[in-house]
Parts: sequence; C-alpha cells; structure tokens
Amino acid sequence: MMDADVIVVGARPTGLMLAAELRLTGVRALVLERRPQLREIPRASGFGGQIAELLRYRGLLDRVVAAGPVQRAPRLPFGEVHLDFSLLADPPTLALGLPQPRLERVLAEHAAGLGAEVRRGHEVVAVSQDDFAAAADVRGPDGLYRVSARYLVGCDGARSRVRDLAGIAFPGTTYPVVHRLGQGTLAGDVTVLGNGDLDVPGLCLVRRGFTRTGRGVFAFGLAAGRVMVQTTEDETTAVDDDAPMSLAEFQGSIHRVLEAELPLAEVTRLSRYGFEARQAERYRDGRILVAGDAAHQFPATGIGINTGMMDAVNLAWKLAAGVRGWAPPGLLGTYHDERHFAGTRGMLQTQAQVALRRGQDPAADALRKLFLELMAYEQPLRHVGELIAGSDFRYPLPNPGNHPLAGAFAPDLSLRTEDGSTTSVAELMRAARPVFLDLAGRTDLLQAARAWKGRADIHTVRTAHRPADALLIRPDACIAWAAPAGEPADAGVPALREALSRWFGAPLDTAVPVAGRLS
Ligand SMILES: Cc1cc2nc3c(=O)[nH]c(=O)nc-3n(C[C@H](O)[C@H](O)[C@H](O)COP(=O)(O)OP(=O)(O)OC[C@H]3O[C@@H](n4cnc5c(N)ncnc54)[C@H](O)[C@@H]3O)c2cc1C
Repeated sequence: MMDADVIVVGARPTGLMLAAELRLTGVRALVLERRPQLREIPRASGFGGQIAELLRYRGLLDRVVAAGPVQRAPRLPFGEVHLDFSLLADPPTLALGLPQPRLERVLAEHAAGLGAEVRRGHEVVAVSQDDFAAAADVRGPDGLYRVSARYLVGCDGARSRVRDLAGIAFPGTTYPVVHRLGQGTLAGDVTVLGNGDLDVPGLCLVRRGFTRTGRGVFAFGLAAGRVMVQTTEDETTAVDDDAPMSLAEFQGSIHRVLEAELPLAEVTRLSRYGFEARQAERYRDGRILVAGDAAHQFPATGIGINTGMMDAVNLAWKLAAGVRGWAPPGLLGTYHDERHFAGTRGMLQTQAQVALRRGQDPAADALRKLFLELMAYEQPLRHVGELIAGSDFRYPLPNPGNHPLAGAFAPDLSLRTEDGSTTSVAELMRAARPVFLDLAGRTDLLQAARAWKGRADIHTVRTAHRPADALLIRPDACIAWAAPAGEPADAGVPALREALSRWFGAPLDTAVPVAGRLS
C-alpha cells in the first residue's frame, strides 16, 4: 500500500495548485514542505496572466480577487520601461495585486478543502524510483521516515533538491546583479511632489520609476501611503532569495546607489534577489517530475506564479490518468513537450527584459527608447502583453492537420443548453474533467464521443458565434481537437476518435490496461 498516489514536494503556488488539481481528479496527494509555516514576507506582490482565467474556470477567482485588487488594464514594468495596457480596448493581461502569502493561503485552504494532506516542517532529503513507484526520504519533527507513491513532483523552487537528485540539469545564466527591495513610509525631510517625484535633501529630484546613477539603479513607487524601493547593483556574489536581509544592508545599498540617505520608517518586505535565467533540460525523469521554479527560473519577476501554476494544471490530469491506469502511451511525456515550450516563451520575454535593463551607454538608451516607441502601437503592445500573459502560443500538438484552435486555451463561450438554460465553458470546466461540446447538432460526432462518456462530459449546446462545429477540451482548458464549421457529416469522426484515444485512452467499452509499468 502506497502512502499517496502523488507526492508533491513544496507547498507554495505550484505545489498547492498541483495538490488541489490532483484532488479534483480524485487522486491522493501528499504535500511535503520543509518550512513549518507559510513564509510571511512576500516575494511577489501580485501576479496575472492565463492562470487568472483558469482560476475563474475552477470557480476560485472570486476568492483570490476578494483577497486583493485587480487591474484590468495594468501599467507593468518591462525591463526598465513601463508598458501601459490601458491603451488597448481589450488588454491581453490583467494584474492581481495580491501579495504571495495571501495567494498561498487561499490555495492552501482550497487544497485542504479538497482533501489534500499538507505536512509542514517535513523536508525531503532523498528521492528514489523504480518501475512501479517513487519514494521520498523525509526529515520530519519526529525524525526520518520514507513515503512512497506512484509519482513524485518537485515543486521545490529554483534550488530544487528533487531536480538535482533526479539528475536533471538546469542550464542557464546567472547575471552579475543583485536587487534589494523594501517597503516603508518616507521619513525625515523627504517630500513627495505633485507629479510623484521625490525631493530628497542633499540630492536633485528623484524621478518616479527608474533612476540610473552610474553606480546602479534606484527605483521607487508609491501606493496607499507607502513607498516600495528597489536598488540594483552589479555584484558577482550568488544570492539566496530566501535568506533574510537586514535593514542596514538595504540602507547601505540605497546609500551606495544614490550617494545620499533616504530616511525610511516602518520598513517591511526586506528581501534580496538575483537574476538567473535557467530552465530544466527535462521536466521528467521516469516517475519524478519538476514544475514551477524548480523547472524554470526567469530573470525578471512577474510571470513565475502564472507559469508555475499553469505547469501544475497541465500536469495534474496527466498524472491522474497514470494513477487510474487509463493514460494512453506518451501522455505524460506531453507535459515536458508543452510546458518546456511555454517556459521558453517566458524565457524569451524575460531575457529581453534583461537586455532592456542592462547597459549604461547611449546604445542601450537608444534600445530602450526605440522599444518604447514601438509600444505606442497596438500590435506590438498586444504581442508583448500576450507574451507576459503566457497566451501568445498554442501548444504544439502532434497532429499537423489540426484545426487552428487545437492547442489553444479554450475561450469562455456563453452557451445555451437544449433545455434553454444558459451556461459557459468556465462553468463546464469547474470539475477539471475533459469536455466535449457539440456546438452544431452534429449527431455523427456526438455518437462517436459517447463511447468515452464515462471519461469526458458531453454537452450539446449552442453559442452565438461558434468557432467550430465541436470542441474537445482537456481538463487544463486546452482545446485538444476542433471540427471545422460546416464540414460534411462523418468527415470528422475518425479524427475525433483519434483525438479522444490520444488524450483520454481507449473507449470505455474496450478493456482498460491494468495500472502498472510506466508508459
Ligand atoms: C523578489 C521577488 C519578487 C517576485 N515577484 C513576482 C511577481 O510579482 N509575480 C510573479 O508571478 N512572480 C514573482 N516572483 C517569482 C515567484 O515568487 C516564484 O515564481 C514563485 O514563488 C514560484 O513558486 P513555486 O511554488 O514554484 O516555488 P517556491 O515559491 O520557490 O516554493 C518552493 C517551496 O518548496 C519548499 N522546499 C524546498 N526544498 C524542499 C525540500 N527539500 N523538502 C520540502 N520542501 C522543500 C520551499 O520551502 C518552498 O516553500 C518573484 C520572486 C522574487 C524573488
């Protein structure tokens, strides 16, 4: 008897989301977290992107929004410039101003409410696997013990021990810069001018946003009477994001960069972090997988939570299929294919941000200026917004003849059912099950889909502007297959059967293989 179906190492955004998604599919999730309590000093002060839509599909967004404000057309830092999405009528990304510990609390309650077991103060010290199971050696409050499960997922952050023990390489670049940040109230004779600039005694005016001083970069922003300050200095020492930083170290950095004191009071959120661009070579080694920061470390903030939680959503139902014994061959391998690809898109835009930040010479200034000029146009601004949201691509699904929607995130269509009631894609995705939508009364497709009815929810519905005759949507809201509108009857049946088998295994009237060796 195994201790769980899936062991999840790490109880922060990625691990908690994974545990919740696994529980939605009914598999047993055991989360092991080395810290005895939630970390109260926030890293992220917010997040956004596609995960917000997914949280809405799971009925969770209202709980998240209740814990923090939402900006539908945010002004976001990008490198050292700011992008203003209010210039677009329908901005491609939003920003949820929720400090990370509050998000983690919502996720922890959600996962626990679904029955996930979270053991805090339990550190994984070793992992192992064979053809049938994965195991973790754990140091808990009462000493060492071992747990086993069908799979083990390292959601244990950028310095992932699981990744290292599994022998998965994490190649990339460490940039020789250190950022220090803190939040407080302005003290002494510092004055905030009407345009938001600071008048600091002994200094010229300090402009809102980023100021390069030749010794580093000083940045500040004001919100609700508090000031968020960040310094950036060239340093070659590697930093541990989780190690505490003193107020004296922070003040010392401000002094070096500005060559003046900035009197601050009631300082909180003291933290220090470096810039690394790294991505795991493989997201899977047999029964051991990695997700979130354990799989990718972006050299700019703002997308880590979105990308990590979307990894979790992509992975959970595939693991559940393996646990339940109906996973078609190669299903788990698609986790690497799809999410590694998503990670490279995140890496592309965050590396570009590094280029926009670095450089103190006129050529670097020209690059920043030209980039900002381009961002005044709708198309480039939308493209970068979609990159930030993680919605600029479709997953590279195996069938080249696929409908253009295949691989895309399913849009939240408003739907009308046969009995005249209204529903939506979001409502139908709440249970995290596969969904087949017959949008055009195609009895040929409906009949074919019914052979999988124990595994997928099948609905005949109508929508105002139908994008296809039928959609097959995976539990992670990815469109697995779509029927072109108006195609002749029966034309799509073989492709639909192929897609259903590829993603959801043999039809239920066919013998299901017994759960066992890894496929
Ligand atoms: C200063 C800063 C600001 C940021 N701002 C933003 C932002 O605005 N928006 C955004 O989206 N992202 C931001 N990020 C990135 C974001 O914080 C990360 O992407 C996110 O925390 C990753 O979540 P995770 O669950 O994958 O990993 P982590 O948050 O790193 O969590 C890993 C967990 O695993 C646990 N663990 C590690 N080893 C073990 C072990 N051996 N056994 C058991 N448990 C273990 C750790 O204690 C930890 O709780 C920021 C990061 C920093 C440093």
